[in-house]
Amino acid sequence: MEKRYQMVIIGGGPAGYTAALYGARAGLSVLVIEKMGPGGQMANTGVIENYPGFEEGIDGFSLGMKMQQGAERFGAQTLYSEVSMVKLAANPKQITVGAECILADTVVIATGATPRTLGLTDEEKLIGKGLHYCAHCDGRFYKGKRVIVVGGGNSALTDALYLSQLAHEVHLVHRRDTFRAEKIYQDAVKAAKNVVFHPYTEIKELITEEKICGAVLKNNKTEEEGTLHVDGVFVSIGRKPAAELFSELEKDENGYLVAGEDTKTSLDGVYAVGDVRQKPFRQIVTAVSDGAVAVHEAQKFLAR
Ligand SMILES: Cc1cc2nc3c(=O)[nH]c(=O)nc-3n(C[C@H](O)[C@H](O)[C@H](O)COP(=O)(O)OP(=O)(O)OC[C@H]3O[C@@H](n4cnc5c(N)ncnc54)[C@H](O)[C@@H]3O)c2cc1C
Repeated sequence: MEKRYQMVIIGGGPAGYTAALYGARAGLSVLVIEKMGPGGQMANTGVIENYPGFEEGIDGFSLGMKMQQGAERFGAQTLYSEVSMVKLAANPKQITVGAECILADTVVIATGATPRTLGLTDEEKLIGKGLHYCAHCDGRFYKGKRVIVVGGGNSALTDALYLSQLAHEVHLVHRRDTFRAEKIYQDAVKAAKNVVFHPYTEIKELITEEKICGAVLKNNKTEEEGTLHVDGVFVSIGRKPAAELFSELEKDENGYLVAGEDTKTSLDGVYAVGDVRQKPFRQIVTAVSDGAVAVHEAQKFLAR
């Protein structure tokens, strides 16, 4: 017989397990479906210093485990499997995992997003060893140092501005000579004395000792190459939301699920939380906040 839950949560990152905690604690039958392990992107993060309540910081893996245990304490269940198909307009909603179809009265989508990478050799191995995808998370390790920011959109320019207040020098590397970013950020970057712009430039190679100590830059117009000695590289070329499965729902031009602060999507009883949702700032605290709000809305929906 098909299993039925009042709430099925797809994704076991901070947004998913916060929804699970609030849902289970409110007495709902809750299932979290997670394809890897608890914690989502946090699980690959060394020390997290900007999640309140941990005065020494906490490693991302432990925080993920704590979030899972906190939700399971109130009866939330976890199924380790990948959701391969959903029918969210159906009543009840249908979620396919392997050969099984799980039924749900409400669905919380917490599948997250992954940063776009440069595609360089050994890029994955260098994460946290001088290579970063989140300036607000890791910028403070570069006080008084020299860093590269790669990209030309709003997030790259705001990252460059944020880092310019910490680092001694910021090198903004962009493959074009014009930015996609809003003019207000372009003006601010031009005014910043310690931001050096490298137009028509790409990183060809990262130079490492134990960690990154420089990069080989290539000018894609002149083909000229040069070495820049830096302590860190921040890649800010966008993120890819894990939203391919959700073709029934409205998405924005970048593929994020459209939902406001109330997390309600274009279908009743379906909520989008955390990084997969269209929002201005993707962090753990904003993800957990969404998880709580989604349950608040789902309870109103279930009561109807
Ligand atoms: C390197 C790095 C460092 C960071 N450091 C910080 C930091 O210091 N502080 C901070 O606040 N933020 C940090 N962030 C950002 C933060 O991790 C994210 O904002 C947060 O994890 C988003 O949570 P989420 O629950 O929305 O999604 P995720 O954490 O992305 O979790 C989504 C989960 O859904 C699962 N999933 C996806 N598709 C499916 C499917 N089809 N079936 C089943 N499961 C699925 C995934 O396996 C994943 O576990 C960092 C991010 C990165 C990449």
